[in-house]
Amino acid sequence: MSDAYPNSNLSNAAAQFVVVGAGPSGLTAASELVDRNHDVTVLEQLSLVGGISRTEKHKGYHFDMGGHRFYTKAAEVNAFWERMLGDQFITRSRLSRIFYNGWFFPYPLKAVETVRGLGLIECVLILFSVIRWKLFPYREENTFEEWVTNRFGRRLFNTFFKTYTEKVWGISCKELKAEWAAQRISGLSLKTAVLSMFFRPRNVVKTLIEQFEYPRLGPGMMWEAVAEHVCENGGSIAMEATTTSIRTNGKDQVLSITYRQNGEETELPGSHFLFSMPITAVIRGMNPPPPPEILEAAKQLKYRDFLTVCLIIDKPDLFPDNWIYIHDSSVKTGRIQNYGNWSPDMVPEAGRSGLGLEYFCNVGDDLWNTSEEDLVELAKRELEILGLANASDVIDGVVYRVPKAYPVYDADYKQHLTVLREYLRGFTNMQMIGRNGLHRYNNQDHAMLTGMYAVKNLLDGTDFDLWKVNGEQEYLEEIRRDEKGTPQPVVAKSNVPAEVPVAAERNN
Ligand SMILES: Cc1cc2nc3c(=O)[nH]c(=O)nc-3n(C[C@H](O)[C@H](O)[C@H](O)COP(=O)(O)OP(=O)(O)OC[C@H]3O[C@@H](n4cnc5c(N)ncnc54)[C@H](O)[C@@H]3O)c2cc1C
Repeated sequence: MSDAYPNSNLSNAAAQFVVVGAGPSGLTAASELVDRNHDVTVLEQLSLVGGISRTEKHKGYHFDMGGHRFYTKAAEVNAFWERMLGDQFITRSRLSRIFYNGWFFPYPLKAVETVRGLGLIECVLILFSVIRWKLFPYREENTFEEWVTNRFGRRLFNTFFKTYTEKVWGISCKELKAEWAAQRISGLSLKTAVLSMFFRPRNVVKTLIEQFEYPRLGPGMMWEAVAEHVCENGGSIAMEATTTSIRTNGKDQVLSITYRQNGEETELPGSHFLFSMPITAVIRGMNPPPPPEILEAAKQLKYRDFLTVCLIIDKPDLFPDNWIYIHDSSVKTGRIQNYGNWSPDMVPEAGRSGLGLEYFCNVGDDLWNTSEEDLVELAKRELEILGLANASDVIDGVVYRVPKAYPVYDADYKQHLTVLREYLRGFTNMQMIGRNGLHRYNNQDHAMLTGMYAVKNLLDGTDFDLWKVNGEQEYLEEIRRDEKGTPQPVVAKSNVPAEVPVAAERNN
């Protein structure tokens, strides 16, 4: 792999704008900058662009790390996607089921299958449980468990929420903050969920979206197109270039970053800096170091990681879903992707399938440290247990690891994040952007918006609060526009919308 993205004109002379990370937020920001004729250098630690939204390739098969639906309510983002990829998008119907207790439940839940899967008696018990918790709810809703139980009852919580959530997060639902679900999954009440079992909802709730757009060759195709656009318009992208330190004047200005590439460290000065790398790494890398309480706050922020075991299987049409949530505790995998059902072009050989078994873990734990060979064997065994394919039909397997896939919302994260945010606000020529830059549970569209609005803040002197761009707060509706439709600085709203969560959508 070359050091620079094709067409990059890389030099170590001072860059006007330095962007760390070639994921959706960093590349969107870089694209906006070159479109406004600014000089920009992007530094990316991996050999692929796209960040968590990249597409890995093996023997011509395409593997999407996590399964990325392209869906947004933001007109800017839609226009950007359309401009970059246009006719390379395909519209896909969503089919995803929940595997629990030996049964596949359609998601969104459908009345007949749900009753069949759970049994009539269990359904009646669930109903009683809902009534009991509506009448005598927890007084305070601090944890995920309390919040879900108040809305859906204890029995539904145990059936559709608990095991999966704990697989994804690796912590008890008693420790997970209610806020996480509130930010990420909203708009769906028990009433909506139940009604949608019988009728097609009039207002489509995010969790119930039945169709979505998808680049023909996976999300990486989008980010490769954006990277091309950046380089063709004068920007440069250094690949396998890890930002290791950030030199500041100790007061209010970032002066340069240092990156490591091919074992060598290079200092790159600049006038403006955008960081989509994890906020914890930014704080840790600052030179001179921030005060001890800031370093301590950064230490307290946590992440959840995952790995995907990608298998090539000598059988077509294994199951109709794009993905299946595995709530069942008989296996370790949390979700299974069937890439050919995302886009047939992801699977280059007729008569075969490409699957991805996702395992949620922490860097350094047993699962993370398991060898590729053993993980492939585990995935083969689990496919058989689930009855989805025979292990003997698996002809190849490869493992991709995704560190820091999820910023964790634990009991204290908000307090620590506030400390960091206040500290970083003092640096006037830098912006934190993206999912890990802001430690926000953002999807691609909201990560992109942070990139777009960061550029406006730096170039136009606006003061958009990028920390408020998130999953379900309709940020764009909050943005005031002047009479010409130009966005004006946002007025902050509460971080916790009064919405409710639903079972299976919380793993983006
Ligand atoms: C399982 C899963 C499923 C998802 N599904 C969806 C979905 O269906 N739809 C959707 O829209 N979104 C989805 N998302 C969210 C989406 O992946 C993210 O919102 C998006 O990738 C965030 O973009 P970003 O640029 O903020 O961060 P990232 O994608 O994390 O990109 C940051 C980049 O910075 C680089 N970097 C980090 N540190 C350094 C350093 N020190 N030096 C240089 N480079 C560095 C990283 O390598 C990375 O390339 C999903 C996420 C997960 C985990």
